[in-house]
Amino acid sequence: MMGGIMALTDRYNFENLRNEAEKLVLKELEFHLDTYPEPICRCNECVLDMAAMALNSVKPLYRVSLLGSLYTASAMDEKAYAISVRKAIVNAIEKIRKNPSHDIEPDLDQ
Ligand SMILES: [Zn+2]
Repeated sequence: MMGGIMALTDRYNFENLRNEAEKLVLKELEFHLDTYPEPICRCNECVLDMAAMALNSVKPLYRVSLLGSLYTASAMDEKAYAISVRKAIVNAIEKIRKNPSHDIEPDLDQ
């Protein structure tokens, strides 16, 4: 081992450090996929593209989920965050809908 220095990930357990953004984005995406007024492709590729695009545009929301949340955002922040997640999802759906990463549209419900 180099100089006997252990990596941070060997010294600490990071399993309880979670990015809550992913959970919120996927929940919001699920809702919009079910209710979106325009025809959209729901194939695995497009849905993952939408999730990735939305996740890259919202602020990360890390929490420590050990014995409850040690660090949590305030209620006001949560409301503003929920709005930013919704905007990111709608934006991602529109972008992927108009420009899917595949040529054919296998699952367009029209
Ligand atoms: Zn698709």
